[in-house]
Amino acid sequence: MGLFGSKKKGYWIKEERLFRSDSYVCSVCKKRFSKASSTCPSCGAVMTKTKNDPGWVDDLEMIDAIFDD
Ligand SMILES: [Zn+2]
Repeated sequence: MGLFGSKKKGYWIKEERLFRSDSYVCSVCKKRFSKASSTCPSCGAVMTKTKNDPGWVDDLEMIDAIFDD
């Protein structure tokens, strides 16, 4: 039952950003990378797909917070 004993499966969550380059979040360990690879460089999970996550919604909310004072 070791953490690294068996192959984990996961997927990339692609975060599209307005003001930054896109990033990819591992669904298993939640670490963020600038590009997708076939396995997670951090936890070693085998990536089966990439899902889109509209991260720009967060960016817009952040702008609201800045100008909402
Ligand atoms: Zn990972």
